[in-house]
Amino acid sequence: MKNKNLSARGGSASGPKFDIVVIGGGPAGMMAAGRAAELGARVVLLEKNNGLGKKLLITGKGRCNLTQAEFDDKEIIKKFGKQGKFLFSSLAAYGPEEVIKFFEDRNVPTKIERGGRVFPRSDRAQDVLRVLEKYLEKNGVEMIYDAQVAGFDVAPVASGGKIASVKLAEKGYVSAEKQAMLPARRIYADKFILCTGGKSYPVTGSTGDGYRWAENLGHKIIPPAPALVPIKTKENWVKEVQGLSLKNVAINLLQNNRKQDSRFGEMMFAHFGLTGPIVLDLSKKAGELMAKGKVIISIDLKPALDHEQLDARLQRDFKENSNKDFINYLPELLPQKMIAVIADLSGIDPRKKINFVTKEERKKLAGLLKDLRLTADGTTGYNQAIVTSGGVDTKEVDSRTMRSRIVSNLFLAGEILDLDGPTGGYNLQMCWSTGYAAGTYAANLEL
Ligand SMILES: Cc1cc2nc3c(=O)[nH]c(=O)nc-3n(C[C@H](O)[C@H](O)[C@H](O)COP(=O)(O)OP(=O)(O)OC[C@H]3O[C@@H](n4cnc5c(N)ncnc54)[C@H](O)[C@@H]3O)c2cc1C
Repeated sequence: MKNKNLSARGGSASGPKFDIVVIGGGPAGMMAAGRAAELGARVVLLEKNNGLGKKLLITGKGRCNLTQAEFDDKEIIKKFGKQGKFLFSSLAAYGPEEVIKFFEDRNVPTKIERGGRVFPRSDRAQDVLRVLEKYLEKNGVEMIYDAQVAGFDVAPVASGGKIASVKLAEKGYVSAEKQAMLPARRIYADKFILCTGGKSYPVTGSTGDGYRWAENLGHKIIPPAPALVPIKTKENWVKEVQGLSLKNVAINLLQNNRKQDSRFGEMMFAHFGLTGPIVLDLSKKAGELMAKGKVIISIDLKPALDHEQLDARLQRDFKENSNKDFINYLPELLPQKMIAVIADLSGIDPRKKINFVTKEERKKLAGLLKDLRLTADGTTGYNQAIVTSGGVDTKEVDSRTMRSRIVSNLFLAGEILDLDGPTGGYNLQMCWSTGYAAGTYAANLEL
């Protein structure tokens, strides 16, 4: 690695001074640091873990769904809801095509899977991380691991109110070689890029530290909440079907018997409730609704048929299977694991001959197939949330440069911002785009 940073200017008594300190070695921080250094800035990247990208390594179940093959930025923007338009400029500068090119140019070919999900062809998140590590190394970024940042030192408002340095926490081991750079456990720089992520999967290092510092600096924090998170349900029967994955089903979120949102696709039962792509995608909305009152999750197991069509099918089936026991007919309709549950919920005697199933019973069965209801009982929380909703209010950040509108030498990128998208590579794309913008402008802007 080039050692240009070690001779960073203005060091002496207070330690070396860098052009830019990047805090957090996740996707956003790595992209920001690498990009700024590529443009010639002297950059130091501080990471409290003993390595980079701990969360990146578990993305896409270890395969890393690194972006989304949606090349119309407007469609990506829509997926981020109200705040989406914040991404307009950074996506235009560095969108999915640029991200794919970045990795492919560095010998990580990619492939597109169902729903536009882009993965490395090797199916290894490790390969994605390795590209970023090399990018940092090649451009001479000084990396300090086990460097847990405790906060910022800010100059008095009279002298501009800028950040002067970051303070490292007492705990955390920093290698002897790097200690020289940290007299009084402080690092000085002209500009600071905050990329500490959200609060989800805290074991990976994302413990929401940056929210507190940003708030102390005067930023508004939209209350963080777990998003893309499994939903717990009150009904115990889910335990009987745990592990069962259902493809091509629809789920509807209901409150006061009104449909609030819905998704079509794949879901899974777990011992505590529901998970899988469409459940995760609805979890943010479900969380918001739960804060207001009771939420029902209604599963439509037969979304291709409306009530009438389903009833017609059941009538046809019943004629053809008239001598079968009810329980022995159900495999025609349902996956094996669900048979006992649906039989039980229908209240129909499992040994009743189909011939004797009444019209009311048939309607009840159809009702269960179209509207199988579960009561939401919270989420599994940050420990299992793929992302965190909320964060630094994007209104206080310049959307082209990622520069704070409150503190002139602060930039922010990645999940710390109040931006969260659905599954499918959208969240990492947001990190690459905002990280790239923060790195570019932190390196280029004169303060
Ligand atoms: C299980 C799982 C699977 C996922 N799969 C995908 C996927 O396939 N595709 C997709 O698009 N998104 C996926 N995501 C979401 C994606 O991983 C995140 O959105 C992304 O990692 C956020 O990047 P970030 O750089 O903003 O923050 P993070 O990745 O959270 O990185 C922040 C870094 O800052 C460091 N840090 C925090 N506090 C301090 C401190 N005080 N001092 C020093 N360092 C600090 C942390 O240790 C961490 O390394 C997944 C998330 C999870 C949990």
